[in-house]
Formats: sequence, structure tokens, C-alpha cells
Amino acid sequence: MQDIIRKRPRSGQAPASTPVAGFATLDARALGRSLVTGLPDGGLNIGYEAVDRHVARGHGNETAIVWLSKEGAREITSYQELAELSSRFANVLKSHGLEKGARVFSAMGREKELYAAALGTWKAGMVFTPLFAAFGPEPFRTRMEIGEANVLVTSRALYERKIAAWREDIPTLRLVLIVGEEAPEGCVALGPALRAASPEYETLHTRPEDPALIHFTSGTTGKPKGALHVHEAVLYHALSGRHALGLRPGIRYWCTADPGWVTGTTYGIISPLVNRATMIVDEAEFDLDRWYGTLQREKVQIWYSAPTAIRMMMRAGKDAAEPFDFSSLEFLASVGEPLNPEAVIWSNEVFGLPFHDNWWQTETGGIMIANTQDADIKPGSMGKPLPGIIAGIVENTGDGLRELPDGEIGELALRPGWPSMMRAYLNEQARYDKCFADGWYLSGDLALRDADGYYWFVGRADDLIKSSGHLIGPFEVESALIEHDAVAEAAVIGVPDETAGEVVKAFVTLNRGAEPGPELERDIRGFARKRLGAAVAPREIVFRNTLPKTRSGKIMRRLLKARELGLPEGDTSTLETEET
Ligand code: ATP
Ligand code: MG
Repeated sequence: MQDIIRKRPRSGQAPASTPVAGFATLDARALGRSLVTGLPDGGLNIGYEAVDRHVARGHGNETAIVWLSKEGAREITSYQELAELSSRFANVLKSHGLEKGARVFSAMGREKELYAAALGTWKAGMVFTPLFAAFGPEPFRTRMEIGEANVLVTSRALYERKIAAWREDIPTLRLVLIVGEEAPEGCVALGPALRAASPEYETLHTRPEDPALIHFTSGTTGKPKGALHVHEAVLYHALSGRHALGLRPGIRYWCTADPGWVTGTTYGIISPLVNRATMIVDEAEFDLDRWYGTLQREKVQIWYSAPTAIRMMMRAGKDAAEPFDFSSLEFLASVGEPLNPEAVIWSNEVFGLPFHDNWWQTETGGIMIANTQDADIKPGSMGKPLPGIIAGIVENTGDGLRELPDGEIGELALRPGWPSMMRAYLNEQARYDKCFADGWYLSGDLALRDADGYYWFVGRADDLIKSSGHLIGPFEVESALIEHDAVAEAAVIGVPDETAGEVVKAFVTLNRGAEPGPELERDIRGFARKRLGAAVAPREIVFRNTLPKTRSGKIMRRLLKARELGLPEGDTSTLETEET
């Protein structure tokens, strides 16, 4: 195990997180309540809490968003402007006869209209569903079918290339709004519609249990599920953003997650706005120099990113970071995949701060387990459950669930009841019901808790490898592999073996300058054997230029395995980067 990283605030800087008073009372709902006001008429609405509330309290002039366009333009949007723009959007929906509960889908990049659409949809009491703009026609279609889309907001190019051909097959789809000034036949141009609409809109009365969001899971382990969330989730979005990320009024915060994914909405729109932060929105996808430049120029204080981006930075080497000044950074956090200890140590050297791992899922609607500002970090550990969240490691005994003692590997489970928990999987009641047993929500991930209460990710339940009586978690093996100087990324799977049952096979990508070949393979295997022991180390290592990944940056081990075994590949709708 790596050394613990002791936490000390940088000199002259206040700690980023302001722990919420009374957090330790373990009631996430009551604590979240203290961070929102509710509607003037007593309801609760995400859109109102995110923007209109701040305007009503005299904060309209504060900066909500700093936009950085792909072409290099920089534009500032105040809370007042965002409130008006989203009100215009709500009025556009209303003018088309749409009513409370209507389903509004979006497919676009980080454009201003996306934020107006999300906030306006909530203010109008409707349900927002973001999709990845990079999906192909089929993933769009199946999700809009499952989600019974009533409205789609997208670009002309996406519409014409990916949607027009089958639009008529979705009978529920009544309105297609096209970002910009012109729209093809049968669609409405959003630009003129927004200008013609009133900038005033009184948020529709919504109750805490009214549906607000549908998020499709990443599809890493199979067919994506549509998780339904309600307005009450905003209580936990407010609370967890404050506690796990250190969000507070005016703080310059940059979340790199794609808005088509749960992180891009929850911590890329709702949580920062509810906490009155200033969001940096960079339209560009990962580009090393651009990202380092954005951190420096925008004096980013809190940065929320993902292991895949961090590993790309590591792959480019420390020299690439050298010319930049990162002294504004106060807090770094990562989510979506296990964060290898090597990445934590690397970031501590390059940024002077370690990345804080966060664990959560589309289903949980918010961060559950995290390394927080005030606690020491054990690199490779996910941290501890946020106050208000009760976690456990459980095992199915065949006769109910049993909680396991510290140090034993089992399924990571949570006591349901926090506000942002999903309320359903769309059209999949049986799959939803299977997530709950004996008063626990079962995550499908394997983990262990150490004697200090830190949680350690082991792997997805489906990815566990059983070799000669050993249970091997892929994460441990992958983390050891990337400690080798030549290795950038690694994915391991179990492949059948006559004597051992299964043996570990690794797929790795290499750092700049490393030469693939039998010699390097031997060297990496030897390195892994020393770290892990012969029983756990990979028997075989193959080199790849890229690993197959979902659009949210997760390595699709199931695809590597299916290919290895010659089995059907299953649902690949969220596959973004192919294996090469
Ligand atoms: P699907 O459920 O469709 O297979 P998915 O589980 O990848 O897709 P998400 O809800 O986007 O969809 O991802 C949640 C999962 O991501 C977690 O269950 C976990 O396996 C993984 N994950 C997220 N954060 C972390 C983390 N910090 N450490 C380890 N794993 C993580
Ligand atoms: Mg999942």
C-alpha cells in the first residue's frame, strides 16, 4: 500500500470545503433542505434552486458561466441572464402546448442552449434527458423510444444525419427544436423562438417527488438502463457538491464531464449552480495544452475530471505540464472509474495537490463515497461515505445478505433513502427490484473497507477473476501495471485455463517512447510478478494503441472478454473509442 497523503491547506488559502453544520447528524434530506429555499409557494424545483432563487436574493449579477468556445471566444453569462434564457426556453415549451411531465431530450455539446434547455425544462415542470451528441442513430432512437421523448433539442447537422430518417417512428415525439437560426421542415428554429418568448416565467409548482431527470447508464456492463430521478435530488446535489467538491459562491469550478452523462448534468450544471459557483465551460474535448491553458488562464480553483483524462496527462509526461502555472487550484477530484494510486501521486507532484477519488453511479444520483478536503488520502482508496450515507460490504449467503467484516471483499451496498436515489429504471421494474434486498441497495461493484473506514474498489462484480482459488480484482492488477514506466493504461480480464480455472490477461497501452515487443512484455510481466505475486500477475500481456471505452471514458472490459472468448459483443451503443 502507498503512503498516506496528509492533507494541509496551501498556505494563504482557506480550505475549499466548508463542512455543513450538523452534517454528522446523518440526515442528508434535512441537511440538504438547509441549503435550498423551496419555491415561494412551497414546492421544490431544481431549475428554481439553480438560478431564479439567486436572482431573487440579489445575486443576479454574479457570473454563472464562463464560456470558452472551440474557436477561442470567451463569454460571460450572469445568473440573471441564465434565469432569463431558461425562462424563455420554458415559455417556448409552453407555447407548443407541452405540459408538466413532458419528456425533453437533448443531444448537443456544451452550448449555451443546453443549459437553458435543462433549466427551462425543470422550471416548466418537465423531465430532462441528456444524450451524448456523439451517439449514432440507433442509440438515439432506442433511448428516445424507451424514454418516450416528447421534445428533442439538437443541432441541424445531428438531426439531418442521425434522426430525420426515423423521426416518424417515435409517435410521442411532438417537437424538434434546432439550435440556431434555421430549421429543416417539421422542426422549429430555437434562436428566433427564444427571442420571441418572454424572459419571464414563474416556475411551475413541482413537488419533491415529481420526476425531473432520466439518465441512461453508461452501458459498461450491458444494455443501458434509464434511471429516473426526482426534484428532491437537488437537496443532495447541493449538499454533496458542497461537501465532496468544496463548491461555494463565486468559486471558479471546472467540470470536464460530457453533458450527455450523469456527471455532466449533476456536477456540470445543477450542483455548481445551486451552490452559486462560477462554472467554467470549455466546449473543447480533451486537448492537453488547451486544458492546461484553461486551468491557468481561468484560474480554476476546483477541477472535477476523470481517470481517463488524468492518464492521458500522465502519458504526455510531466514536461508537458511544466510551462503552466496551476497555483489557483485548491481541489482536484475524479470520478467514473477507479483512480489508480499512481495517478494520485502523479497529480500531487504536478499540481501540488492529489486527485480526490469519488465513487457513485447514475443510480445514486450523487457522490456517495469520496476523499474529502479534510481527510487524509490513501492513494488507491475511494475514501469514505459522505456523512448522511451509510455504506456496507455485503455477501449473499443464499439465505439473505450478511454484512462482512473489515478487510473482506464483497458487494458494495448502501442503505437507501438519500434524496438523489433513482426512483425507477424505465420499463424495467424487475431489474430495478433486483437492486434491493434486506434493506440494502446493491451496487454491483465489489469493494472492501479497511480498519480505518476507507473503501477500496476491487472491480465490477462481473469482472472478478477466479484463478487457482484466488479472487483477483482487475483494479489491483491494472494499478500495478501502470506503475511500470512504459505503461499508460491497462485493462485486465480473466481467460479460461484448464488448471487454474482462469488466468489473468492484460491489455496495455504504452507511454510515449516505449517500444512494444517481446522484451517489454517479459519485463512488464516480471515487474507485475514482483508486485503482485505469480498467482495474481498477468500470464499474458498484449499491447494496444487504444482500449475500448465508453463515451464517459470507462474501459469496456466485457468487450475485451467477449472478443477473447469469441462471444457476441452485446450492446455497444456507448462504445466511443475502439480497441486498436
Ligand atoms: P452500466 O450500469 O450501464 O453497465 P456504468 O455502471 O458504467 O454502466 P455509470 O452509472 O455511469 O454506468 O457508472 C457507475 C460505475 O462506474 C460504478 O458502478 C463503478 O463501477 C464505476 N465507478 C464510478 N466511479 C468510480 C470510482 N471512483 N472508482 C471505481 N469505480 C467507479
Ligand atoms: Mg452500472
